[in-house]
Amino acid sequence: MPATSQPAAQKIPGTVRAFTAFGVPVRFHFTFLLLAVFLLALVWQDRDTAVGDAIFIASLFGSVLLHELGHAVMARRYGVRTLEIVMFPIGGVARLEKTPPARKELGIAIAGPAVNLVIAAGILGALAVWRPEIAGPEALAEPENGNLLERIAYGNLVLALFNLLPAFPMDGGRILRSVLALSRPEEEATQVASRAGRALAVMMGLFGLVTANFMLLFIAFFVYLGAAQEGQAAIGRSLTHGIPVRAAMITRFHTLSHAATIQEAARLMLETTQQDFPVLHAGRVVGLLDRNALLRAIATEGGEAYVAGVMDRNPLRLPADMDLSEAVASMAEAGPCALVMEGDRLVGILTRENLSEFILLRRIGMQIGG
Ligand SMILES: [Zn+2]
Repeated sequence: MPATSQPAAQKIPGTVRAFTAFGVPVRFHFTFLLLAVFLLALVWQDRDTAVGDAIFIASLFGSVLLHELGHAVMARRYGVRTLEIVMFPIGGVARLEKTPPARKELGIAIAGPAVNLVIAAGILGALAVWRPEIAGPEALAEPENGNLLERIAYGNLVLALFNLLPAFPMDGGRILRSVLALSRPEEEATQVASRAGRALAVMMGLFGLVTANFMLLFIAFFVYLGAAQEGQAAIGRSLTHGIPVRAAMITRFHTLSHAATIQEAARLMLETTQQDFPVLHAGRVVGLLDRNALLRAIATEGGEAYVAGVMDRNPLRLPADMDLSEAVASMAEAGPCALVMEGDRLVGILTRENLSEFILLRRIGMQIGG
């Protein structure tokens, strides 16, 4: 379904890594087991159409996966990494490492539905060549009467059209947002697409209620959540965009010498409110000791061990003039704390907590940094 980038969200819980396609890890949500059981049950029942139904549903999921890979491959062409593809029973999600600029986002968003259109056109085209008698207007009117291949083709058409609805969190919402963003501020464009998504969800939900279509009601619920979440994420981005990292970083902090012991580090953690300590050697940063590493070291190495032996030797380093919205995305991947550098010089640290404080202060209208 959508190609999202929600830096705040870490790996989606309850998922199992299945395989890697085009260099992108593909994970399945555990509820997929329910779907597999459902498919097996269909086949078990031994109705005439059971095997066909099972193949049809499995093919649609294959098509959804290809749709997500379409986003991922296009994203890579634009130099945007796809962290993972997660398959849910109601659709798939390709998680990008960051939200690309409008023009690229347009290409990435179109690529998914385009894959489904190509599959549908390919199958219908092939059928038209091989069996010209069924691809006429009568077949279009009653796809159920066609064979399995036709059902798969129409399934792909439905997938493409549903995803092209111009509302968040569908791909069409992203297309709408990126087109609007060419002529107006990105935040405004996002809010329009988010509002469209919520309005669509409400209409779908009402229609689902009136017609007692609970599947539709269910989908409407997720569309609403997705649209609202996108709106929130966009607000966070707009509040950090165009602001350098140095404006939000912690400038008063303690450091540890690489020759310090775990015991000394533990005392410093107790005496201060700081949780992550840059480790210095001869005035240069050589690593970062975070709270978890420290607690682990206390348990396994004992108090006499040296900080240098347990610290992270390759912590995330951010240039002080980097855009804060990019820093948020890097930190979502790398961890809760980053070193802020001016060349080789350590000038501050940035943590998730002070980032959220910064966003909160900006939201309530306080002008800090900038
Ligand atoms: Zn999509």
